[in-house]
Amino acid sequence: MQQHDVLDRARGIQDWIVDLRRRLHRHPELMYEEVETSRLVRETLDQLDIPYRANVAVTGVVATLGRGEPCVALRADMDALPIHEEADIDFRSEIDGKMHACGHDCHTAMLLGAAKLLKQNESELVGTVKLVFQPAEEGGAGGRRMREEGVLENPKVQRIFGLHVWPLSPIGTIVSRAGAFLAATGEFEIVVHGKGGHAALPHMTIDPVTTAAKIVTELQTIVSRELDPLDSGVISVTTIHGGAAFNVIPQDVKLQGTIRALTMESLQYLEQRVTEIAQQLAAANRCTAQVEIVGNSYPPTVNDEHLWQLAREAGADLLGADNVLESPPIMGGEDFSFYTEVIPGCFVGVGVLNPDIGAIHSVHHPKFKVDENALPIGSALHVSLALRSLAELSG
Ligand SMILES: [Zn+2]
Ligand SMILES: [Zn+2]
Repeated sequence: MQQHDVLDRARGIQDWIVDLRRRLHRHPELMYEEVETSRLVRETLDQLDIPYRANVAVTGVVATLGRGEPCVALRADMDALPIHEEADIDFRSEIDGKMHACGHDCHTAMLLGAAKLLKQNESELVGTVKLVFQPAEEGGAGGRRMREEGVLENPKVQRIFGLHVWPLSPIGTIVSRAGAFLAATGEFEIVVHGKGGHAALPHMTIDPVTTAAKIVTELQTIVSRELDPLDSGVISVTTIHGGAAFNVIPQDVKLQGTIRALTMESLQYLEQRVTEIAQQLAAANRCTAQVEIVGNSYPPTVNDEHLWQLAREAGADLLGADNVLESPPIMGGEDFSFYTEVIPGCFVGVGVLNPDIGAIHSVHHPKFKVDENALPIGSALHVSLALRSLAELSG
């Protein structure tokens, strides 16, 4: 397949890709419940006569094109978010309280588009292209589970690419960087235990509300006073729950929040300091604090320098060099990092920002909307990354 006509060929199947994307968009499914999504992926692969392994990490699907080594993987995530959609589109989510607000419907459709294009020239592939459709990116560490279930083996995957729709960058661009692109992320829960009682008799109680307030404030000095100013970190307390009446001091107050850093070492340091400060500040105020690092901590998404260079070249061929953008690191997390922890990879943003059609909101926003002209760009980029990689690895 000629590299230069990949985008034309992707645009030639744009309606097919968009139709898949809209069907997925209407029926969002949350982590590890991507049953219908997985079915649509499998049915489409059946139509394209592409073999696959199903039920990997519950709902994941791994398809293969070509044969033997070298082997390159392309990854899409399939899960939606518990958000009620408010976007002004006529294929809005048909399920109350669930929405494809992170564009994973686009990612799945773009990868199926790439599958269709690669299949047309399968005989020319030197090696294997693995198509990884994974569940549970949004907090469920689906990538780690796919990895643990052998997705990177047989044949051994030498490099992996993932794309994400990118509302910070205009339609017609791609964006990423070498090194740490997205953050390591962790989640915490703190329960401050005091002694409840009448609000008019504070001396008879041990007040968990004032103690929780001090903890919230004190946690803000970890990043500002303890982390190297040239390193990056975030600690955000995002929920506070305690008490039910204006004249009662409650027994407990619960806090939740998130921690972000650009290295696993910094993330672990911040997690340790959140724990120590909450426990010791509680003790200083006669309370106790139970601290838990909950959920799945994600490693940072670190792009291989050479692979970002390769993606830059692919992007320049498809869209022109001016439309390949460099990004600073972003403190969002992404479980593509579970693959790049063990093999070289590159995660690339595909611009979807277009104020003319109201595609201006960030991911995870109820009005999040993409310019669908990005879909064939994503499919073409997938194809180009796979072909360039196989050529390089077999050469
Ligand atoms: Zn997301
Ligand atoms: Zn996402």
